[in-house]
Amino acid sequence: MTAFFSLDRPVQFLKGVGPRRAAELARMGILTAHDLLHHLPRRYDDASTVSAIGRLDVGMDATVVGRVRSQGTIPTRSGLRIFQAVVQDESGMITCAWPGQPWLDRRIREGDLLLATGPVRFFHGRQLQPREFTILARAAEASGADEDGGGQGTIFVSYPASEEVPQWTLRQLFARNLGALLPLAEEDEYLGAAERAELSLPTLSEALRWLHRPETLEQAEGGRKRLAFDELFFLQVVQARVRWEQGLARPGIAHARTNALIRPLLDALPFALTDAQSRVLREIVADMTAPRRMSRLLQGDVGSGKTIIALFAMLLAVEGGWQAALMVPTELLAEQHARRIRAWLAPLGLRTALITGSLTAAERRKNLAGLAAGDIPIAIGTHALIQEGVAFHRLGLVVVDEQHRFGVRQRMALGEHATNPDVLVMSATPIPRSLALALYGDLDLSFLDELPPGRQPVRTRLFPPARREDVYRLVDAQVALGRQAYVVFPLVDESEKVDLRSATREHERLARDVFPHRRVGLVHGQLPAEEKEAVMGAFVAGDIDVLVATSVIEVGIDVANATVMVIEHAERFGLSQLHQLRGRVGRGAEESCCLLIAEGGDDARERLRVFRDTSDGFAIARADLRIRGQGDLFGEQQHGTRPVLCFADLLTDEGLLVEAQARARALVDVDPRLERPESTRVRAVLERRYADRLRLFGVA
Ligand code: ADP
Ligand code: MG
Repeated sequence: MTAFFSLDRPVQFLKGVGPRRAAELARMGILTAHDLLHHLPRRYDDASTVSAIGRLDVGMDATVVGRVRSQGTIPTRSGLRIFQAVVQDESGMITCAWPGQPWLDRRIREGDLLLATGPVRFFHGRQLQPREFTILARAAEASGADEDGGGQGTIFVSYPASEEVPQWTLRQLFARNLGALLPLAEEDEYLGAAERAELSLPTLSEALRWLHRPETLEQAEGGRKRLAFDELFFLQVVQARVRWEQGLARPGIAHARTNALIRPLLDALPFALTDAQSRVLREIVADMTAPRRMSRLLQGDVGSGKTIIALFAMLLAVEGGWQAALMVPTELLAEQHARRIRAWLAPLGLRTALITGSLTAAERRKNLAGLAAGDIPIAIGTHALIQEGVAFHRLGLVVVDEQHRFGVRQRMALGEHATNPDVLVMSATPIPRSLALALYGDLDLSFLDELPPGRQPVRTRLFPPARREDVYRLVDAQVALGRQAYVVFPLVDESEKVDLRSATREHERLARDVFPHRRVGLVHGQLPAEEKEAVMGAFVAGDIDVLVATSVIEVGIDVANATVMVIEHAERFGLSQLHQLRGRVGRGAEESCCLLIAEGGDDARERLRVFRDTSDGFAIARADLRIRGQGDLFGEQQHGTRPVLCFADLLTDEGLLVEAQARARALVDVDPRLERPESTRVRAVLERRYADRLRLFGVA
């Protein structure tokens, strides 16, 4: 291949592109042959779903393709100006009308080949009101042989266009250049024939041909799959590199399992581990006993029994003479964990140190000394654990609970220790496996996808605001039985002030007018830490009957006597967040309920019905992903880059993602810097097509 024809060649050297057009394309981000080749249609219309204009009926929703025979804007008596175009195909003519869009007069011209989709209405005869339209070709500019008949075969493609470089110009550009451009894609072909066969993927140039010129929708889908694999693979390459740096690049600890502590605890447990717990424990033990450093994310629904898993992992470290630390997001949780864990460990004669911000100076000094000397094998605490002055004698394992409340940086900071301790991160917010693979490709994943037997399901009910009194009656009935309730308010418009007012005002109203005979408390994120802890402490102790709260109570708090969770403005919460809140009840022997008060239209109610009828956190997470889409997963908006995933669909491409991860890891494990000759193409594609990712993940 000569330098003249290469992917990096500026577009100006293509047919039909002069300096002016090149500048216009540059403003769309298209600078090189590669950029143009990867400027792909965003929409495909199957001609078999295109209707013959002569057969359109009022009431249909139709897509038509035809020539504009005349056009113009007409005023109406109401002052509304309507742009109209009469469109004709072989079967007949129809008026397309765009009320209130007179500016289209300058965009749609006589002779244009128009693709339009919308409802057919009756208005002085049949009229199509396009929701969407594309100008497939412009007769005046098409020069004979270059005229593009609209489709290539039976599929119409529409490109992302700009004011300066309209649809028909792009189509012409491709009509003239695609044949020469496609073979260039071979420069980027990093998959060998055998690998492509294993993955059932086409070559890159075939995929691009299918995407630009599909003969069938299946071809376009086949092309999409190839580019989806590419973007997943390169995402995983970048993450595999981070994983390598966290793991293989430095020596880890090969923990020695003696069973001296694990066995007695297993024997003392009043219950058998679930199958999922046993499986996850095996995964963790395998990681910890291997010399490679563990970076593992354990996802498990609320109540799936993560704490006991963490405890076994800590005991494995301690058995071999190492120390272990457990970090949780709040003091209350730290105390709760410390209490529970001490009860388990007392018979084993093991000491634990609590490290939080509210220790007395003497306690703190004593605990820190014990950790530094190695006399205390286990530390439990808040982020105070990663603050200055906390030193371990031989830190061998770090467990981070409820990680979504910590930033990634904090999560890693606890692992930044001279001994390179193993790191186990636990999350109670299940996300679909594919999403976890995409977001946390640098970590290994374990799923605790089974609840211990005998859990009472939480009965979930939906109420319109008008039936709030019924909800209060249900709450009061439970309190009369000696149980406790939460009433949760959302953040409104991210304005903490508005939210505070509503939670605060509602607290007053509930305390004064609704439950004057009950003890009503208030907790929210704006309270000083001690006050917050005090209120939560009072609730735990049973001194508060009804706790009005914002979603600060979402994380980890465990009050078995609380049996009612009321959520106001439930329509404002994400499904996963609702699930977290619901997980606060149903923790004891009594039957519990979750009462949602929701406004909003059918969409909101449909979402909440999904939630009401599903108790499995992973299923809810999948529904959440389906409803909300994969939108802004990687915080891209802050980076101002294009989406990380343009082609991959996390709901359908999980298999592709698993393959992409396995291959990326295998590659990076043997060639972390991509410096071997056989990695040249991977490296070139990474730099050419995914350079922004390297920045996104802070890997240069
Ligand atoms: P989470 O995963 O939400 O942190 P926990 O670790 O707090 O869940 O466990 C919830 C409760 O279930 C605890 O009381 C715990 O002792 C209990 N538990 C854990 N594993 C089992 C099991 N296999 N069988 C029965 N109960 C269990
Ligand atoms: Mg927990």
